[in-house]
Amino acid sequence: MQAPILINEPLLTPDMKRTRSGATQLFRKDYKDRQFTSEENADVVLRPPERHLFAELIGGQWCWVNGCAECNGKPRDWMTYIECDKHDVCRTCKTPRSQLTESPWGGKHGWQCKPCAEIEHEAEKVEALAAMPEEHDEIDYRLEDNPRCPYCDLQFEVESEEIDGMVNSEQERECERCDDTFTIEAEVSVTYSTPRIKRAAQGKESLR
Ligand SMILES: [Zn+2]
Ligand SMILES: [Zn+2]
Ligand SMILES: [Zn+2]
Repeated sequence: MQAPILINEPLLTPDMKRTRSGATQLFRKDYKDRQFTSEENADVVLRPPERHLFAELIGGQWCWVNGCAECNGKPRDWMTYIECDKHDVCRTCKTPRSQLTESPWGGKHGWQCKPCAEIEHEAEKVEALAAMPEEHDEIDYRLEDNPRCPYCDLQFEVESEEIDGMVNSEQERECERCDDTFTIEAEVSVTYSTPRIKRAAQGKESLR
């Protein structure tokens, strides 16, 4: 882990709160005015010497701390905006972000460049299709609790707000794994509840 670097800025005091705006660090004393800190009302505005550094109060002193997960020996995650230049690379081919021509795909273990994502997608598709039985029986894809792609068998989720539009009405879908299209239709079973109405006690009812 990279050691914190003391920030040499005499205006900084330990009673300030630090907020981040991109890589920019905004410091503001708590004036109890409930205002959001902005570059306009901040007491001190600092840009880090390198963009993966951010300010932390350590033992009463403001320091630059390395926010890059890998520099700190931690796995990469979805949040990749604070990676250092060395680690801000495609998780598969290690292409640096600065050399990308198309926006990358985010991911749990760091981002992936578009060409790598496409190669992986094609490989997953080929593998899934190869694992399918030769004979297709439509019965296997009828009245299922969870919908599955009829080409590659991928089980997928339907959002509850999508269900209404699918009840007794076919909708077209594209499979995210094999890119093929099929139709999906929902069938809903109806149940009834018939509780008694709670009335104020009167007449015959009150005798019971
Ligand atoms: Zn790093
Ligand atoms: Zn790549
Ligand atoms: Zn599929």
